[in-house]
Amino acid sequence: MHLSVVVPCYNENAAIPLLVERLLAVVAPWQDSAEIILVDDGSSDGTWEAIEDAHTLAPIVRGLRLSANRGHQVALTAGLEAARGARIFMLDADLQDPPEILPDMMKIMDQNFDVVYGRREKRDGETLFKRLSAWGFYRFLNAMSDVSIPNDTGDFRLVSRRALDAVLAMPERSRFVRGMFAWAGFRQVAIEYPRAPRIAGETKYPLRAMLRFATDALTGFSTKPLKIATRLSFLSLAVTAFMAAYVFGSLLMFSTAPGWASVVLAISFFSGVQLLTLGILGEYVGRLYMEAKQRPLYFLSQETQPTTQNMDPEGEARVGPAPVRRLA
Ligand code: UDP
Ligand code: MG
Repeated sequence: MHLSVVVPCYNENAAIPLLVERLLAVVAPWQDSAEIILVDDGSSDGTWEAIEDAHTLAPIVRGLRLSANRGHQVALTAGLEAARGARIFMLDADLQDPPEILPDMMKIMDQNFDVVYGRREKRDGETLFKRLSAWGFYRFLNAMSDVSIPNDTGDFRLVSRRALDAVLAMPERSRFVRGMFAWAGFRQVAIEYPRAPRIAGETKYPLRAMLRFATDALTGFSTKPLKIATRLSFLSLAVTAFMAAYVFGSLLMFSTAPGWASVVLAISFFSGVQLLTLGILGEYVGRLYMEAKQRPLYFLSQETQPTTQNMDPEGEARVGPAPVRRLA
């Protein structure tokens, strides 16, 4: 199999027909050895039925259905584990990232690259807040993290089999797929493209989800926050020294020391520092706990079956369910 396309879908039933239509057109040059894997991430809006329809229409579409909503990054991982292609193309279901640049990505990969990732040169149809927060997020993440994760890139990319296998060999539960590819190394290159508005439905990343995603990214790729906690304690020591001098001085000079202001200030400052430090520790301890449990990332509840059209003469399934490796 030459090419696998992997798309995580959560409540995207409105987007799927057009998604499949455009993907079929794009993979046409490789259609004899391509598969399009749509992963239904526990949707509640008929996404699975839309995927089944697409599979009936075009058997190179394979559907995987997760047993519950596990989030974008896990759904993507499920699709990546099922992919059998020598090259793997991943994109979102909402067509914000144009699949039509796949041929360009394929050409670039021919020059011996392992990862060709899309970099958003502009983002239409997204709120100013989303654009600003995304801009700030990628800069902040890079300032904090130990691996350099390219700015303004999503999971929209074409990767080689060996790059994918490297990422699938990483057993962690909090998955930040684009960071994992950056960490894996190999030869990587960017291709610029304009990001379009969603074709249907609405964003599955409200502020809460964005914050969770950002914390996963940060804690997964950096221990700097822990070091910042240490630095904060030095800062608080310095402030204490300063305050001690002030309190002592006023005691000597004004003989009267009502002093509540400095006390209140000191208490609130130190409780702030302590809470922050505890919070940072808590983030890491919580993640250690989740990793220690070693739970499987997801379970499949349904899978489309290969039809006779994609059986070869011996009756062997050519396009069918691959043995799904679960990170266990
Ligand atoms: N998605 C998913 N599970 C979730 C949330 C999102 O599989 O719990 C998918 C979603 O269907 C889409 C992709 O992840 O294909 C990116 O989501 P979205 O477009 O809402 O994010 P945005 O582009 O707004 O950052
Ligand atoms: Mg989107």
